[in-house]
Amino acid sequence: FGNERLSIGVRAGALDRGFVLLLIEDRTQSRRVEETRRDFLVNVSHELKTPVAGMTLLSEAIDEARDDPEAVHRFSERMRSESVRLSRLVQEIIELSRLQVSENLEQPVLVDVESCVRDALDHLRMVAQDREITVAFTSSGERPTVYGDQHLLTTAVRNLVENAINYSDPGTRVTVTLQADADLVSILVKDQGSGIPAVELDRIFERFYRVDAARSRRTGGTGLGLAIVKHICANHGGEVSVWSEEGQGSTFTIRLPAAHAPEEAQPHQNPQE
Ligand code: ADP
Repeated sequence: FGNERLSIGVRAGALDRGFVLLLIEDRTQSRRVEETRRDFLVNVSHELKTPVAGMTLLSEAIDEARDDPEAVHRFSERMRSESVRLSRLVQEIIELSRLQVSENLEQPVLVDVESCVRDALDHLRMVAQDREITVAFTSSGERPTVYGDQHLLTTAVRNLVENAINYSDPGTRVTVTLQADADLVSILVKDQGSGIPAVELDRIFERFYRVDAARSRRTGGTGLGLAIVKHICANHGGEVSVWSEEGQGSTFTIRLPAAHAPEEAQPHQNPQE
């Protein structure tokens, strides 16, 4: 294996007592975790520097423009939107680092997926209206359930629908579809927006990765939304995937293992019948 990945050690003190203790440690995983943590810190400090520097400049500009109420108003508005973005960034950094630390959910419970989708859509009603985007929801009428965390699943759907709204032009439509079969619950978020170039598709789930940084910034994006979705799906034993074509739009699909009805809840079958 080579000492890159395995470290093997013998406890010498144990030899005189007639046995040998062999310690075998796989360092690959711990090294990877360490590297991920270090990269994350570098990314985070870089991402925080920009809005903080922007706010410092804006506060100086407000001070200098104190005799011009119109300019003061303009700079204050920009300062407000920067601070909203900064607090969202901090919130999402905390959320992502929590998800990265624990790969499993603490206390999964039975979650009604349709209520997560409806909560997410309720949150975004005003955003969609402001951007003149129609959001439609279709489902087969059943109420599929999964084991998981209601708040996290709502966040995952909200992130996808928010992106669908933000990367689409006014007058277009976003369709959210809930499907279920015996084993899988799927949530599809389809837009008629800008689409994503094929070469970028592999990278958009990386934290802080943006195809068009200026557009992401304009819509208050943090570059963390899809990384959060990816981790939430993984923590639920599921996955997220994307189909997209430039100029045609995108469809993001979350697939989660369906919760199976407990034995006692299943219809009783009389073996003599
Ligand atoms: P952001 O906060 O920048 O939206 P995300 O992690 O949510 O960050 O998304 C990463 C990048 O993927 C975005 O910056 C954008 O370029 C691209 N993207 C995500 N969703 C869509 C979509 N529905 N249509 C087009 N591009 C998208």
